[in-house]
Order: sequence, then structure tokens, then C-alpha cells
Amino acid sequence: MTALAAKAEALWKSQIETWPMLADGLDALLACEYRTVLIGGLRMELQWNPGRIISVTAKVDPQSIAARPCFLCPHNLPPEQEGIAFQNDWQVLCNPRPILVPHFTLPLREHLPQDLDFALETMLAFAENLGETFVVFYNGPQCGASAPDHMHLQAVPAAQTPLLQQLNLPGLNPTEGVIDWIQGSNAEPHRGFARAPFLPLALWLGTSLTHLSAELRHALAYLRQIHPPGNGNEPLVNAFAWAVGDACLFGIFPRAKHRPACYGTGQAQVLLSPGTLDLLGRIVTPRQIDYQGLRDSEVEAILQEVCLPRSLFQTWQQAILA
Ligand SMILES: [Zn+2]
Repeated sequence: MTALAAKAEALWKSQIETWPMLADGLDALLACEYRTVLIGGLRMELQWNPGRIISVTAKVDPQSIAARPCFLCPHNLPPEQEGIAFQNDWQVLCNPRPILVPHFTLPLREHLPQDLDFALETMLAFAENLGETFVVFYNGPQCGASAPDHMHLQAVPAAQTPLLQQLNLPGLNPTEGVIDWIQGSNAEPHRGFARAPFLPLALWLGTSLTHLSAELRHALAYLRQIHPPGNGNEPLVNAFAWAVGDACLFGIFPRAKHRPACYGTGQAQVLLSPGTLDLLGRIVTPRQIDYQGLRDSEVEAILQEVCLPRSLFQTWQQAILA
């Protein structure tokens, strides 16, 4: 375990003792139930987590955001909440409504909006410093972030995300596995794409963070052209970074929309608001009715609906490989 990962683990253990809100959040998580779904050859898990209802139903329109105190700004943090500084401008905090154990939030100290372009290098540096124990992830402002107005990343144990557990790395057996790694070039970074048709996921694996971030910026620029975000903001994406040996793996899920058409709190609706963790196979359903009632095909349809359509994904794929 890296020095930062060990410090973060120690922070989590101490905050459970000193911060009742985190202890309550952990109790709520320990009471969750889990159910496996199999879609498109991938194993994912539903988590019935009533404690996440606040996040899943969070109003993220500009008026609602402006009307509430920002829970990530340093001056609004509860007195019991402690953090670990990272690169001066960022800190590691414990998430009091965890989805996994431990679950860290990595906010910028300054109140600036969620922006992948701004956070890209930090995300890679966080992943490198936290090592392979943790995966660092980013929810776009319209793709699952409950604080779209405050720049933040998150980190959870990689071993507890179903998709990362099923991931094959380049060169192992090119014809098998959930990721189709592009052959024929030893130049880094390696590029791969998820085989499951419902899940558009592009991956890069490289040892040079400089090359990696340059390539990622190109890919995001292509995505902006192929699927313009409309309001001048960044392309709709979820993303993650994970240290694998001496390399870093970076994944982008391009999105089509924020929430599925069936989203809502009515009896005939489904309360599911996908973010990066859901797409990594840890699907959070705060209501029992959704947890028990959703068929595998319905979960697949919801994820497919909020992600970039296959035809556009293939256009993006060609641009990435050109
Ligand atoms: Zn803030």
C-alpha cells in the first residue's frame, strides 16, 4: 500500500471514531443488501442502499444548487470532519454516505465547478499516489455528481468494483475478456474498448502520465465534436483512473443523458441516477421496489439509455484510433 493510501485508511478508521455522521453512514451501508445481475456478459451488482436517497434525488439544477450551502467548501465542513492535504489545493475527506468501504471524496479547496479538463492531471496523480488499492473516479456535472458546482473526485477500493475485477489487461489473451485491446502497436498508451454492446467504455493504459493526459485531451476534444454538449460545457462523461503495476489505466464512459426517462420517485418509475460507480458495476438503488423489481434486461436498458449510442461511440472509437 502506498503512503497516501495508508494515510487515507488511517483517516477513515479515526473518523469513524470521531465523527458520528460517518459512523451512521457506515452502519447504513453495513445494512445494505446485494443482488447480482448479468448483462451483456458482465457481472454487476445492485446495492439496496436507502442511505443514498439524498444523493440519488439531489436536485442539480443551477437554482437548487445556488440555494444550498456547498457541502464541499472548507468553511462549511462539519467541525469533526478532518482531511489530508494533497498537492496543496486538494484534500482527501471521508464520504459520510459511503457506497463502499472506505469511500473518499477528493475536493479542491476552492469552490470551482466540476470540470474534467481542469482535474485530469490531478486525477492521474491521485491514482498514482493512491496505488492499485483504490480507483479514483469523476462524475461529470450532469452525469451523477451531486455537487456539480464544486470540483471533486472520489476514490473507493478497486477490488470492490465488479467491472474492474473482470477487466483483462493487454496481451494476456487478445481474443478473450471483456475488453478488446487494440493489437498491432506496442506504442503507448494501449487502447481498448469494452466488448459489451450496451456499455460504451474506452480505456487507455500507459506508463507516461504526460502521454496519457495528452491522448485523453484529444479523445475528449473528438467527443465534443461528435456529441456536442449543447450548453458549452464539457462532453457528458464518467471517468476513472487506476494504477496498475507501474502504469495507469484511464477509462471514459461517454454519456448521452443525465437520467433515464423512467427516473422518478413514483411507483411506476425507477429511482436510479447512474454515475461512474454504477457503470463500474456497483449499481445503487435506494428503494427496495427497484432493488427487488428490476430485471437484468431493464438494468441493461437504463444503462444503455444514459450512455452514448453505439453508432456515435463507434465514430468516436474511429477518431481515437485514427
Ligand atoms: Zn463549494
